[in-house]
Amino acid sequence: MSDPLQAPRGTFDILPEQSAARLEVERVTRAVLESAGYGRIETPVFEPTELFTRSVGEATDIVQKEMYTFIDGGERSLTLRPEVTAPIVRAYLQHGMHKLPQPVKLWYLSSCFRYERAQKGRYRQFWQIGAEAIGSDDPAVDAEAILLLSTILGELGVKDLHLRIGSLGGTEARERYRELLKTHLRAHEDLLAGDVRARIDLNPLRAFDSADPSTREVMSTAPLLLDHLDDEDLDHFAEVRSLLDAVGISYSIDPTLVRGLDYYARTVFEFNSDALGAQSGVGGGGRYDGLAEQINGPPTPGFGWAAGIERILLAATSLEDEAARTDLFVILENQNRPTKASGFALAAGARAGGMTAQIELAGRSVKGQFKHADRIGARFVAVVGDGRIELKDLSNGEQTEHADDEGALRALIELKGADQ
Ligand code: AMP
Repeated sequence: MSDPLQAPRGTFDILPEQSAARLEVERVTRAVLESAGYGRIETPVFEPTELFTRSVGEATDIVQKEMYTFIDGGERSLTLRPEVTAPIVRAYLQHGMHKLPQPVKLWYLSSCFRYERAQKGRYRQFWQIGAEAIGSDDPAVDAEAILLLSTILGELGVKDLHLRIGSLGGTEARERYRELLKTHLRAHEDLLAGDVRARIDLNPLRAFDSADPSTREVMSTAPLLLDHLDDEDLDHFAEVRSLLDAVGISYSIDPTLVRGLDYYARTVFEFNSDALGAQSGVGGGGRYDGLAEQINGPPTPGFGWAAGIERILLAATSLEDEAARTDLFVILENQNRPTKASGFALAAGARAGGMTAQIELAGRSVKGQFKHADRIGARFVAVVGDGRIELKDLSNGEQTEHADDEGALRALIELKGADQ
């Protein structure tokens, strides 16, 4: 039985005291990405199910068991987005963005939905920041996007970060390699975990992700894709690395880096943080040159990444929750209409003047209102009575008296101004 007083398992409320840290993630993401010409995009929360089955891949965990799929009133199968890359490539194609100067650089901050086993750092609704550069296969696109994520995570104070990169090669090299790998897996079939064995044909590369000890043993002698890349793929990968070297980003090359989505080709990468437990992936992504065709579009290269906001918050040092600042709290000495109207106008005037201001809204006693002003950290209080307003600076106890709200507001603006 579900409890209507509990948010569903794996979901959470974002409470006011947690919003400052999230806003900081958004501010830094926006500043860094917009400094490199990325523009914000927001796509719908749900999309046709087929968009994800075609792009993310039928054989992936996401499509096989993690999607929130439902039939709407018009008998259409829709799915809450489990990731945002496919929706953005869909939007790029739908809006004819190939006519714009390429690559088109887009960023987002969106929620995603996956039916996963909920634990610390892994939720069923979670938030991602992400960037997509669509329309160019230049290795500088890859290196720049990785650099931008590195900058964002660095500015946010994410601790103990390391970057792994790899290359999955182009379609042909990967096809040839898949056959080699399948042969290796079949030769050791009896030692493989059940789920790996079941996916030998559909998704042999995922065997590298298995935590099963016996499977890992088999994989330690498996052929590596990096050793079977075409010359062009090798060149592409070498250039990505030399550009990362040029800006001093350190990384390790991981020939077994396989990401859980089928659409990647060539460069893939992941940032992990030791400050996180089992769920150490902070963000990652890669190149997806075949994705547009998988969803019926023309061949269109692209590169992108996503990073989980909850994981960033767990791994960051500098993102303390902050108490909101209040400039003015308006105390009402009585509930008479003229008193209230005067206090109401004073609070409104203060806000219009760029301050944060609150007024008593719960009929507390004057003593209770002073206590409340203290609790919310108000710098000034205005005590409004019949025909007079006392303005008090709680930081030094200085007090002035005014005949009406206009006079009090002028004094307040002056005091605040003198403060800056
Ligand atoms: P992915 O789309 O799987 O490559 O995920 C990109 C990033 O999103 C990961 O590195 C995590 O930071 C975050 N992420 C993915 N799945 C979850 C989840 N279930 N809960 C919280 N964060 C997630």
